[in-house]
Amino acid sequence: MAKRDPTGFLRAEYQQLVDSELDWRLRVLEGPSTPRCVVDGKKVLMLCSNNYLSLSNHPKLKAAAIEAVKTHGAGSGSVRPIAGNMDLHVELERRLAKFKEAPASLVYQTGFAANAGLIPQLADAGDLIVSDELNHGSIIDGVRLSKADRAVFKHCDAEDLKAVLAKAEEHTPAYRRILVITDGVFSMDGDIAPLDKIARTSKDHGAMVYVDDAHGEGVLGEGGRGIVHHFGLGRDEVQVEMGTFSKAFGVVGGHVSGSTDLRNFAFNKSRTWLLSGSHPPAVVAACTAAIEVLETEPQHVRSLWENTEYFRKGLRQMGFDTGNSQTPIIPVMMGESKTAKRFSARLFELGMFALPIVFPMVAKDRARIRTIMNAALTKKDLDEALGAFGKIGKELGIV
Ligand SMILES: *Cc1c(COP(=O)(O)O)cnc(C)c1O
Repeated sequence: MAKRDPTGFLRAEYQQLVDSELDWRLRVLEGPSTPRCVVDGKKVLMLCSNNYLSLSNHPKLKAAAIEAVKTHGAGSGSVRPIAGNMDLHVELERRLAKFKEAPASLVYQTGFAANAGLIPQLADAGDLIVSDELNHGSIIDGVRLSKADRAVFKHCDAEDLKAVLAKAEEHTPAYRRILVITDGVFSMDGDIAPLDKIARTSKDHGAMVYVDDAHGEGVLGEGGRGIVHHFGLGRDEVQVEMGTFSKAFGVVGGHVSGSTDLRNFAFNKSRTWLLSGSHPPAVVAACTAAIEVLETEPQHVRSLWENTEYFRKGLRQMGFDTGNSQTPIIPVMMGESKTAKRFSARLFELGMFALPIVFPMVAKDRARIRTIMNAALTKKDLDEALGAFGKIGKELGIV
């Protein structure tokens, strides 16, 4: 019999990551996620959270969460199909569908759970899934759970999608269903998927379009309604609009919006939805309050874009390369991984919190500091941040 060491790989594989500097060292946020916050005991300016509109600390969200604990308790007691479907969950879905201008919405525990639960149900054996090559990891895992054939198209390239779909028509037997999936806003580059062109090409081939708008909600479209609204597309053009409450909405939870058929299908078939406890009352009520804030306080989305334009322009004027960024995700290109790491460490010393993104998350020579703008940053904050970038850029010979 083989003599096995049951746990030796745990330390060995971790050590490999440490040796190649690919391990995660967790930083501790001491207090709320606000533009001026405390990380690892140091006061810093937050330049890398997904809390785009600073809603996580909005008084209306906090009050709604506290109130829901008082009226509905700390937990829901079950999965939604059995005994955990509270009036609060129903109300949130009603409000979300209205906000999205969609016939129906369904809330999942997380965005990851939505992708992992729904994608393999929408396409399986005999079907084809076509993905943008840079899609999010949760989409990749959702696709891996499916027995469908897979193809990728070049990043944000609707012409290449056209070629991939034309080739798919030659497949025998003919594919039963084709599902085209793309991120709305790409999290490493801050560029926007050409969803109008993707939808047009998909329609020509009778393919269904699934957009993961985690980084577009609260950012794109009127009042932050997201990428489908941004392009003025109909529900017959983009059939599945998926998103999350964990980014601009400032709380946690995934969601899908589309037709009533989609909703009925999705909740009856997604195992992540059926077999996992529903959100606690505080989470649900805070999500509903976030939608209300977006509907009644347009200033947050406006400030986010003003800050985005100001910061990106400031970086470019100093000579930094911000890649293809079109959104509040602004990568600052550094070249090699070690430069990006050095830059980030110096930023932290100067009181700026922004992390390096390095190989294998991006190509070897495309290491970057990824900054994410926030509506609650002031002009003074941004000038301070730009000052630090300029100073370190000169020190390290980048600008
Ligand atoms: C963050 C993110 C997710 C996961 O959403 P959670 O609700 O945090 O699980 C899915 N897709 C994309 C593109 C994301 O950026």
